This record gives sequence, structure tokens and C-alpha cells, in this order.
Amino acid sequence: MSEHFDLIAIGGGSAGLSVAERAARHGARCAVVEADRLGGTCVNAGCVPKKIMWYGAELAHNLHDAADYGFDVDRRGFDWGELVQKREAYISAINTWYHTYLEDSEVAEIPGRARFLDAHTLAVGERRISAEHVVIGVGGRPLIPDLPGAELGIDSDGFFALEEQPERVAVIGAGYIAVELAGVLNALGSRVSMYLRRETFLRNFDAMLRDTLMEQMLADGVNILPGTTISALHKRPGGIALECEQGECGGEFDAVIWAVGRRPHTDKLGLEAAGVIRDGEGYIPVDAYQNTNVEGVYAVGDVTRAPALTPVAIAAARRLADRLFGGQPERRLDYENIPSIVFSHPPIGTVGLTEDEARETHGAAVKVYSTRFTGMFHALTERKVASAMKLVTVGAKEKVVGAHIIGPGADEMLQGFAVAIRMGATKRDLDDTVALHPTSAEELVTLR
Ligand SMILES: Cc1cc2nc3c(=O)[nH]c(=O)nc-3n(C[C@H](O)[C@H](O)[C@H](O)COP(=O)(O)OP(=O)(O)OC[C@H]3O[C@@H](n4cnc5c(N)ncnc54)[C@H](O)[C@@H]3O)c2cc1C
Repeated sequence: MSEHFDLIAIGGGSAGLSVAERAARHGARCAVVEADRLGGTCVNAGCVPKKIMWYGAELAHNLHDAADYGFDVDRRGFDWGELVQKREAYISAINTWYHTYLEDSEVAEIPGRARFLDAHTLAVGERRISAEHVVIGVGGRPLIPDLPGAELGIDSDGFFALEEQPERVAVIGAGYIAVELAGVLNALGSRVSMYLRRETFLRNFDAMLRDTLMEQMLADGVNILPGTTISALHKRPGGIALECEQGECGGEFDAVIWAVGRRPHTDKLGLEAAGVIRDGEGYIPVDAYQNTNVEGVYAVGDVTRAPALTPVAIAAARRLADRLFGGQPERRLDYENIPSIVFSHPPIGTVGLTEDEARETHGAAVKVYSTRFTGMFHALTERKVASAMKLVTVGAKEKVVGAHIIGPGADEMLQGFAVAIRMGATKRDLDDTVALHPTSAEELVTLR
């Protein structure tokens, strides 16, 4: 016999949990089907473990700088295993908390892998469940290229599974995950080489951000090899060797990390049975309201081509629930001005148009304000860390359409500016705001 719900979410990650919880709050009978651990990528193999490792890496930099503030500290060692164990215990506690959260929200938790039998019926093992509204929130997984020896490398999931710190590491990729993992490993003492197919990383980011970060990573000792295309991996007695199109490149490594993108989890979902289409890379096309091509079936989060960020998945999911059950028929996520952070060393915060994008769209109406400086903390340290900021404005009123920050504290700085930009702030509004002194953030309201 089939169990019937008002809404079923496939996937207990950021999207699935959020849509079900909000719908239940509006009085709907909801279920979440999860094949693995509750919390999805963010909690188990993404934002959360990554941020813990980033904190560890920041501490390593701070320990180095502490001597310049008069502390007699000696960094004798670092216990990777201890940090990993504590991180995993923290994540387990979040997993446990999610079970209670679903129970308290009166959302049924259905463990197992869901497959469509038709647009409103799913099979989960022997169980049959159905609903008026089915939300696909299955997220994605790391992509490993189809190359000889590729399986000798690991992906970001494999990075989080490392019980010992690899001494010599190759990170292949140019996106934010590649940059973040390389930065963490380098700060914690591994010898890191980054292989970039093109000349630079973070290609969708403002040029000022990636140039500043590239300089910093080089200064911090990361070996960056631009213009290298990996064609194979080989097992050698001394480690894993990389073959590039130009021949062997870069010696041998204890770990090779693929960070070359992700693909949605849609291949074994039975989408054909539901009539839901997906694009050539497996993403599910949706309209502005998260509707797929089939009525009553929706897709939210990384399984769509929306920015792959947890708060985006959560926000779109909650708005969908508000629309379906909360009497708000026009409710949807506005995908403009989505802020994001790169947890590099130092971090990056960015929102809105890059300078190049703005010039392409608005031409001569663009005016840019920027600055580069060394923050006060590093006035005393031997190791210098640059900060750089840029505001991109458009038109006579100088409406701010982009803010780009790199430097210590950029991660915590951006949120408030994202609010201002979303509200349509002009350069004048920022200038009229009294600065906080002495901070790095004050530069953003004093730019000339
Ligand atoms: C290394 C890394 C670092 C990241 N850092 C950040 C960050 O700092 N900030 C940020 O905002 N975002 C970050 N992200 C991105 C963020 O994790 C994702 O955008 C977010 O998790 C997407 O949520 P989702 O619900 O769409 O998918 P997911 O969180 O991936 O959840 C999907 C769930 O569906 C389950 N599932 C799949 N198929 C089925 C099925 N057939 N039946 C049942 N269950 C199924 C999966 O097991 C999974 O639990 C990071 C990602 C990675 C990989």
C-alpha cells in the first residue's frame, strides 16, 4: 500500500530539509527521503567540515604571526587526526540533531534511495510513497575525469576522509573548492602544487580578487602551475606522478585531489518514469518558481543550475513551500545579487557584477572605486597579507552593482554590504555612512 503525503522531498540536504520543514509549518504532511546522512553535502562533505579545516589553517597562520606580537611560541607539530576526529564528532552531532529536527517538525524521515515510478509516486526499497508535490533536491557529487589512472586521485569527499595529512599534494582544478583545499593544506604544512588548465583560477570572479589571491598563495609557498592539462596519473614507487600534455610534470605526490567540478545526482532517479527532463550534464531545468516541465514536480538546489550554495538552496526551498502551502502565490527566490565567500587565506567576499561584467553591460556608465592596502594587524608581522576592495558603480547616481573584497575579515564583512546593495545603495549612501575605526571594513565607506 502506498503512503500518501502532501509533499515529498527527495534528498535530506539543504534544499530537501528546508522545503519539508517550511511546508510542514504551513500545515502540510511532509516526508524527506535521504539515501545517506541527513544534512547533505554542506553538513557532511562541504561547508561545515571545510570551515573547520579553514579555522585550523587560520590558526596555523596566526601561530606563525604570533611571534611578531612578542609571543614566545614554537609550533612543534600539528595533529591532523585529532582535528579530523573532533570535526567528525561535531558533524555527527549535527546529523543527530537533524533527526530530532524532523521529528519536532512532524516531517516523516524515510531512509533510502528514492526512484520515480511516475510523477507522483516513488519507490524507496520496498516502500511506495506518493504526494501531490514532489521536490527533487538530490544535489550533486564531485566529478572525476575519464583519464587513465584518474582513480589514483581523490575528490573533495576523499579529502574529508583523509585520516592522515598527506605531505606532498597536487590539487587539480581552478574553482573555489580547489583554491580552498589548496590553501588549507598549505597552511597546515603540506607541500601543495595547484594545476590550472588556464592561466588563472576563480575565472568568474573579479580580476582584482583572483590576482591578489594568486600573489598571496604564491607568497605563502603554494606552487601554482598554470596552463597545465593533466592527461594521466601513474602509480610510481615514490608516489603518484602526473602526466601533462607536455609530459611528466611536477614530481610525485602522496595525494592528488581532483577539484574539477560537480555533477547532479540525477542518473538513477527514474526521471524518465516521471517525464521530467534534464539537460546534457544532468541538471534539471526549472522556471523562476522552481517548476520542472512536469506539473507538481519541482527541483531546488545544486540539482538545478542555480549558484551551488547552501543559502541559495535553503532560500529557494523555503520560498517554494511558502508558495505551495503558505498562500503566497508569487513567492520565489530572486537570484540577483547572491553574495558568496571563498574561504581562502585571506578570504574573499563578493556580490554583484564584476568590473568586466558591468563594463560589458553598462559600458561607459561604469565607475569603479578600488583600494589595496595592508591591514593594521600585518603592520607588525613579517608575513604580509594584502587586502583589496572594489566597488563597481553604474550611472550618474553611482548605484553600487558590485562589491568585491579580499583580505582578513572579508568573510564577515560582506553580509551587511550585500543587504545595502540589494536595497539599491549608491556610492553616496556608503560615503554618508559613518566609518568604524580602526577596521579594514571602513575602507569601503571611504573610497575615493
Ligand atoms: C567541498 C565543498 C565546500 C562547500 N562549501 C560551501 C560553503 O562554504 N558555502 C556554501 O554556501 N556552500 C558550500 N558548498 C555547496 C553546498 O554544499 C551545496 O550548495 C548544498 O549542499 C546544496 O544543497 P542541496 O540540498 O541542493 O544538495 P545536497 O546538500 O547535496 O543534498 C542532496 C542530498 O540528496 C541525497 N540523495 C541523492 N539522491 C538521492 C535519492 N535518489 N534518494 C534519496 N536521497 C538522495 C544525497 O545523499 C544528499 O544528502 C560546498 C560544497 C562542497 C562540495
